[in-house]
Amino acid sequence: MDAIETKKRGGELSEGVIREVVGGYTSGEVPDYQMSALLMAIFIRGMGYDETLALTQALADSGERHSFPECVDKHSTGGIGDKISLISLPIVAACGVPVAKLSGRALGTTGGTIDKLEAIPGLRCDLSEKRFKKQVEEIGLAVMEAGDLAPADKAIYALRDATGTVDSLPLIGSSIVSKKAAMRAAYLLYDVKAGSGAFMKTPEEARELAELLVRLSRSLGIETSALITNMDQPLGMAVGNALEIRESVRFLQGEPSSADLSTLTRVVAARLLRLKGLSDLEGTAEEAISSGAAYEKFCEFVTAQGGDAGALKNLPVSGKVLDLVAPRMGHVAYLGALGVGHAALLLGAGRGKKGDEVDPGAGVEVLVKVGDEVEEGQPVARLYGERNAKKAGEMVLEALKISDTPTERPPVILES
Ligand code: URA
Repeated sequence: MDAIETKKRGGELSEGVIREVVGGYTSGEVPDYQMSALLMAIFIRGMGYDETLALTQALADSGERHSFPECVDKHSTGGIGDKISLISLPIVAACGVPVAKLSGRALGTTGGTIDKLEAIPGLRCDLSEKRFKKQVEEIGLAVMEAGDLAPADKAIYALRDATGTVDSLPLIGSSIVSKKAAMRAAYLLYDVKAGSGAFMKTPEEARELAELLVRLSRSLGIETSALITNMDQPLGMAVGNALEIRESVRFLQGEPSSADLSTLTRVVAARLLRLKGLSDLEGTAEEAISSGAAYEKFCEFVTAQGGDAGALKNLPVSGKVLDLVAPRMGHVAYLGALGVGHAALLLGAGRGKKGDEVDPGAGVEVLVKVGDEVEEGQPVARLYGERNAKKAGEMVLEALKISDTPTERPPVILES
């Protein structure tokens, strides 16, 4: 394949060649070993912007394409305890802005909105296009699994996963944007995570990805903006599927929540409203929360997708619980998102590899945040689930650093 030779030497691939390779791989003409070699050459040599855009378009064109010209969508690059979509999207929908959301499943330590929603008994996200569109029209909020959109991306992503070529900026950017382009909600907000629990470990790396995502999406005619947010500690308190739904429901019912969750939810909701050109942003979103309209919208959405809204009061959180306590007094200086995410994964909340079965009731609830003062013996985390509790407990305690001196609470928004 000439493309391998060209890229190996740092040359540029033309749009035609990119389309040929993507088409050839999807049809089976280009074998895994050639595609792997090309992906590695791209990983090492990179891709220019025009090549990345051409790849994005070729991936998007590999399957069905939809269009939701009135709708907003929001995409997080993935984190630990990230339930911002679950909370902010019903708020936005309750403000009269329709949401057509494309979501994925958990992989590794990163949670997935689809697995979280499926913790609600009966709820399904494998909606047909017809049903999805009808639901968007009728209640203004629907969530669908990426499924058959951009099938070439699905196949190439699986190969990247097996060949050490996931963490390449042009490959990540084109992969994410291809699915958004195939779905084509007209207004899109990216929440690009930076920190120990994120793909991008530093704000600089996250900014580079954010700039690429925004540029690619805008080139494809989508009105787009991005936030860069902190993923050094878990977002909110709960990590795990039913646990995160429970935390989201409590938020929408007006119960107090952690400051990071409250701040980011409100900023995301306001940004989505602004993308649609709505004024009185803070007031509108706040009213949707305090009046109960956002919670009602969430219940309506759950029912429309086959879920039992009555079960939201009693979600299937595991009854097998283990509390972990602070080994000493002091100030919480660090509570590593990655360590907590690994613990939740071991307990069964996520998938070590594709196809693993998730335990919807498993996970970790952190009971402290960075900056909190703790006493020796004070509960700092609660583990839920039947699997690997001892090892998971060790991981959470390894992720916790307690210092003698006070620590500032880290900001949740790094760049907006
Ligand atoms: N998410 C995606 O959809 N693709 C990537 O390459 C990385 C994260």
